[in-house]
Amino acid sequence: MEVIESQGNSLCKACGLCCTGHLFIWAKLRSVELDSARALGLNVIREPGQRGFNQPCPLWQGQCTIYDSPQYPRFCRTYKCKLLKEVLDETTPLPEAMAVIEQVMPMIRELDALLPVSSNNNFRERLVAEIEALEETEQHDSAKSDFLLKARALLRFYEEHFGVRDLIGQGEQK
Ligand code: SF4
Repeated sequence: MEVIESQGNSLCKACGLCCTGHLFIWAKLRSVELDSARALGLNVIREPGQRGFNQPCPLWQGQCTIYDSPQYPRFCRTYKCKLLKEVLDETTPLPEAMAVIEQVMPMIRELDALLPVSSNNNFRERLVAEIEALEETEQHDSAKSDFLLKARALLRFYEEHFGVRDLIGQGEQK
């Protein structure tokens, strides 16, 4: 059991996409966690129907820096993407799961380099905004088609491997 948990930790350290704003716009917090999250430096959201913190999370430094802290948010503790669940239930061997991470990182890097410069540091939000903007324009050129092809491929990859759907929807929660 410890071996499997340690494999799960290895996968999360190699990935981090659920903390870095690549999969999610924000993550949920319980009301009792709001003050301590703010004190930890999280960008807390307190709005009707939305209680959480914006991603990317500043506490991700190659791994979660408050993993062992009593202030570790419950949603961070309980969230497991599809790939992590598969490693933990031993349906996907760790090397295969690592290969998925190795495959997705360059896809993200390539799209990130193509996105317009923005003050918004959330990759997912910027990606979705650019897809929507391009879909609305009438212009047809190869750069637009290429971007949309790659962006849609990434969204399909997210769904297939991480179980993250509805990337256009606001308020997708970690
Ligand atoms: S608190 Fe830790 S697990 Fe939660 S989003 Fe931030 S880095 Fe990730």
